[in-house]
Amino acid sequence: MKRKIYFLIAGCIITVAALAPIQGYFIYNTYRLYAKEANAQITQELLRLETDGKLDTINSVWMSRTQQFMRDYAEGKVKSTEYEKAMRGLSDSLSGEVQQCIASDSMLAKYDVTYTNYVTSARICKDTTQPADTIFKGKMLLYGTNVENVPEDKASQSTWRDNTRQNDSLSGAFEVVTTRYYSIANWEKLVFARMSGLLIFSVLLLVFVVVLFYLSIKNLIAQKKIADIKTDFINNITHEFQTPLGAMDIAVKMLQRNDGGLTEEQFGHSISIIDRQNKRMQKLFGQVTDASLSTEIDTTQATIISHTDIAEIVNDFALSHPEIMTMQPQMDDAALFMDKFHIGTILNNLLDNAAKYGATKILVSLKDWEKQATLTIADNGMGIAEKDQKLIFDKFYRVEKGNIHTAKGLGLGLYYVKETVAAYKGTITVKSEPGKGSEFTITLPKP
Ligand code: ADP
Repeated sequence: MKRKIYFLIAGCIITVAALAPIQGYFIYNTYRLYAKEANAQITQELLRLETDGKLDTINSVWMSRTQQFMRDYAEGKVKSTEYEKAMRGLSDSLSGEVQQCIASDSMLAKYDVTYTNYVTSARICKDTTQPADTIFKGKMLLYGTNVENVPEDKASQSTWRDNTRQNDSLSGAFEVVTTRYYSIANWEKLVFARMSGLLIFSVLLLVFVVVLFYLSIKNLIAQKKIADIKTDFINNITHEFQTPLGAMDIAVKMLQRNDGGLTEEQFGHSISIIDRQNKRMQKLFGQVTDASLSTEIDTTQATIISHTDIAEIVNDFALSHPEIMTMQPQMDDAALFMDKFHIGTILNNLLDNAAKYGATKILVSLKDWEKQATLTIADNGMGIAEKDQKLIFDKFYRVEKGNIHTAKGLGLGLYYVKETVAAYKGTITVKSEPGKGSEFTITLPKP
């Protein structure tokens, strides 16, 4: 079962670990698909505007200025260095127009596109026999916002060749290379907004799988615990009933064989064995039925229990356990409000446990506080490990399985004590160190 749980936990971890990157991969692919689709739409729209839309009109402004400049240059009216200045003069007004053009296009406006155009080279060739004359080389903003580090895939280059005046000895042919960029301002926001449904669904799916695994494992562990408790309980109860039954069997056989040869003392001894073992079985049986029926503890018969009543119970225990040094160092004049039978069972359970779990010395004390009284039973027995201290009050819990045959019990004593104390609105706590002993403290409100 334990191995099964480990396998299941490992399987769950591997499944989640495999599922998460697969989902991540699908989400990344979807993101790329969206990005590709948006880029294609934007480039197509820009192309449309450049060929027969408003951008075409805007472009024709700087193009005709360039044509004019080239003609002036060929005629020697301007110098090549003046080309940049001539173009810069247009940049502001053209930028404004481009911005307007993009804002009026619903598709481009949705992506908040910034469109920028640069001249990267301009050359003129007066006639075909001469080498081309470089008018400009570099990166000169024609219009738009100056963009740096724009990804390459968002850029396109085009070469404009004007051959119309190739045979015009004055102007000649020229070639202008431009590079256009577009960038999308709220790209991440847009894509994530489009993918939000998918993202939420993926996260929920992953959470759902993790929760499902967690519940299954928790369930399996709980089942294992119940199965362990069941096995332990059956082992314990078999062992517990075997001893008195065995003793009674011997005593009964002795009485059956009685052909008048039994002395009075032997007869009485057999009867007392049967009586003792019968009482022990009844006590065990009572413990089991109390625990399984979970009947409410009746506190209506509560009376004042004085320190002398407690001392009486402790003294009775001391008489039947002469090998244990039982002391009552502090017995304040405090009173507990409880049913006599209940306080007797509680004390006997705790004292029996101390004796069972190796104590040679037990200290019982009753202390008086302002609003409550505390009853402490401390022993120098084997002690209880910290991890078990919270569990020993659980139904059927016994510390270690090795204990079964050395110290008898069903794991019900402390459960009964806790339930009874709780019925009187009190609490029970334990302080213990393995090898050194244990100290149980019952705190009860004063009557
Ligand atoms: P049982 O004694 O029948 O096993 P209890 O409910 O009385 O059941 O006790 C639960 C467990 O707590 C015991 O199995 C034992 O290991 C541990 N325990 C209880 N009292 C003491 C004690 N005084 N010293 C050491 N261990 C104790």
